[in-house]
Amino acid sequence: MRQSQLFTKTRKEAPADEVAKNAQLLIRGGFIHKEMAGVYSFLPLGLRVLDKVEDIIRQEMNKVGGIEMRTAVFQSKEVWEKTNRWDDAVVDNWFKTKLKNGGEMGLSFTNEEAYSNILKQYISSYKDLPVYPYDFKSIFRNEARSKSGIMRGREFYWKALYSFSRDEAEHAVFYERMKTAYQNIFNAVGIGHRTYMTFASGGTFSKFSHEFQAITDAGEDSIHLDENSGIAVNKEVYNDEVITELGLRKENLVEKKAVEVGNIFSLGTKFSAPFDLKYKDKDGEDKLVIMGSYGIGLGRLIGTIVEILSDEKGIIWPASVAPFAVHLVDLAAGDNDVSAYAEKLYNELTACGIETLWDDRDARAGEKFADSDLIGIPLRVVISKKTLLEGKVEVKMRSTGGTTIVEKEKVFELARGCDTTTATK
Ligand code: ATP
Ligand code: MG
Repeated sequence: MRQSQLFTKTRKEAPADEVAKNAQLLIRGGFIHKEMAGVYSFLPLGLRVLDKVEDIIRQEMNKVGGIEMRTAVFQSKEVWEKTNRWDDAVVDNWFKTKLKNGGEMGLSFTNEEAYSNILKQYISSYKDLPVYPYDFKSIFRNEARSKSGIMRGREFYWKALYSFSRDEAEHAVFYERMKTAYQNIFNAVGIGHRTYMTFASGGTFSKFSHEFQAITDAGEDSIHLDENSGIAVNKEVYNDEVITELGLRKENLVEKKAVEVGNIFSLGTKFSAPFDLKYKDKDGEDKLVIMGSYGIGLGRLIGTIVEILSDEKGIIWPASVAPFAVHLVDLAAGDNDVSAYAEKLYNELTACGIETLWDDRDARAGEKFADSDLIGIPLRVVISKKTLLEGKVEVKMRSTGGTTIVEKEKVFELARGCDTTTATK
């Protein structure tokens, strides 16, 4: 993409009412636009990041047998009354509206009821199970506070998978596979080294649920972490009994601020019972389906990446989710030889499948470099009169900072192998 065609521009300042670092940097870089508190539009650069994160999650979900679909955003009162979750006294964050014909509907704040209601149509025999449908979807919650930028939206985009299993044993096997899939996702997007599986409150059907908590001061949660074993406990369930049960020692635990980037939950028959979601087993006996839920907020995940991987100059995207692999910056300043060379390199990189943003604007070098640092593409390649005379190019890794002069061919190699920030534990 030519930067002269990208309508977004970087900004020196974020809106005065935006207090979260993630949203400040993403707004200044032209990734997102703030509509109101807790509501953001994704601009071209932001959508490229969102699409990459979505693809990483999709691949992991498909690997464990997930099957993608898309549930409706509008939800009917009747379906949610089955579990008593339509009532505002039970769920206080619905966005609802009255219909002209007198009915009522709400915007999805979660998906359990929608999935249970749909799967009820298709599951009748043990042969129909297990199944693992999931979707990516916009979710709406009337959150009381929204001060964490895209980490806590009133409208946000998530992935939710629901598992439908024949019994607890079958459920447990899948649940373990999802733990691995989740850690793979957080490794792949570059925050694996800061993300810990955390024991959290479980509800009626299991003692614990598991949250994936990324350590950052921008987080709204507190966890107690054993840095040696990597086991963490959410403050909500932290007590002497739990510590002993998990084989931890109080003196080894440190309290950290963290953000829940994903969670997995055993639901038992909590939803299958009210929907009468049953199957006939081999002996002809009717049994309730055992369910689990598995969520990840994509906006929250992107916000967390920005909180963790940024410096005073801007964002430092890991290559796996960066909007582009290469930021090609020409300092042509009207010199036709320099811009012709940059155009040739841009065409070669693009032809090789290396996603390149070409800063072809007529602007000062200082401005171009500051924008490049803010946007945070992993590899910056500079073409100037000086490099042209040498027959070389100047490269800089955003994550390490130092510049070097290299042969043009080296750029192709670096662009493919420049994922230096994706550290794993
Ligand atoms: P929290 O405890 O942070 O309020 P939650 O436990 O209510 O979140 P779930 O309903 O289980 O979250 O949603 C699954 C995932 O969706 C969470 O792990 C998180 O990644 C994401 N998520 C939840 N609420 C928001 C929000 N308001 N904005 C962005 N992402 C969210
Ligand atoms: Mg939670």
